[in-house]
Amino acid sequence: MSEEGKVKRTDVNALGEFGLIDHLTRSFKKQNPSTIYGVGDDAAVIDTGGDQYTLVSTDALVEGIHFDLMYTPLKHLGYKAVVVNLSDIYAMNGLPKQITVSIALSNRFSVEALEELYSGIYQACKFYNVDLVGGDTTSSPKGLYISVTAIGQVDKDKVAYRNGAKVGDLMCVSGNVGAAYLGLQLLEREKQVYLADPNFQPELEEHKFLVERLLKPEARRDMVNFFSKNGLVPTSMIDISDGLASEIFHICKQSDVGAFVEESGVPIHPDAQMQAINFKMDPITCALSGGEDYELLFTIDPKDVDKVKYLPDIYIMGEIVPKSEGVKLHTKGGNIHPIKAQGWRHFNPENN
Ligand code: ADP
Ligand code: MG
Repeated sequence: MSEEGKVKRTDVNALGEFGLIDHLTRSFKKQNPSTIYGVGDDAAVIDTGGDQYTLVSTDALVEGIHFDLMYTPLKHLGYKAVVVNLSDIYAMNGLPKQITVSIALSNRFSVEALEELYSGIYQACKFYNVDLVGGDTTSSPKGLYISVTAIGQVDKDKVAYRNGAKVGDLMCVSGNVGAAYLGLQLLEREKQVYLADPNFQPELEEHKFLVERLLKPEARRDMVNFFSKNGLVPTSMIDISDGLASEIFHICKQSDVGAFVEESGVPIHPDAQMQAINFKMDPITCALSGGEDYELLFTIDPKDVDKVKYLPDIYIMGEIVPKSEGVKLHTKGGNIHPIKAQGWRHFNPENN
């Protein structure tokens, strides 16, 4: 209560998504020795005995915030809701085994519509070898809400946290970034045209790659298998959900280091490059700030460089430097700019 007797009210925007999580969870003291790592990484790490840890991660998708059913087929949505959660398990260098799925829906959704959603969920389960083992179903006053929890396993000596990057490590990414964001911009543009003229038929065939990157992402299980086969454990790892820049900051902050990123090392698909230019956007800005790519960003000890050097799907794009040197981008034009912190999406009405 303030002096005037009014209840204090702080807008969540004052803290930002990550500031809010930190504010709410900072004072929590874990009580169980089996809780190895709690809030702050892609998944929680739990010791249930044996040679492996159990990993647990949850992500929710909310209609109107994370997806728009005007251009998101329900089957794709079900697939994506699973994939984005599995991605967090892979980001710990683990393998997902089970999921639970909770949904809240308004009476706008029919049984047939939910069957579509579940056909996507089952397709992802089949492809990624995971079992649906439970969930919850309830109603919502408006719209659809899907929350998936993924449970996985990782060998105790192979878990990759966000906080293990060391000065001199190489920063790598498993694939191109920025395309999903441009896919979203395209779909939003087509939606506006359609709303103005419902007879309009969107022509998205030539943009298939960008649109699929948004609507049907895949998680990088192959990377985790590759690491295992080649005896490589990344020193740190995170999946790219909020945007490359945001994830670089998470690794740097938690590892207490800085990073030096070469613009020429950041992989951008030619379709994304072209579309960015068509939209009069800078391709590197889309790549750094776009998000939803679900690639893995990781660091490796330089002694492991020969294991990744010739792999087409691993791009070395920078180096970990002392914290005092900051987080910087070396542009193709030879300039050095600080990379701006991102990761401020869902609470910002301008971005919704
Ligand atoms: P990711 O992008 O990998 O899904 P998030 O940015 O959503 O991760 O979350 C960062 C960390 O904060 C994770 O460890 C997550 O479990 C935790 N977290 C997020 N929201 C909450 C919350 N409301 N209460 C407790 N922990 C949370
Ligand atoms: Mg993540």
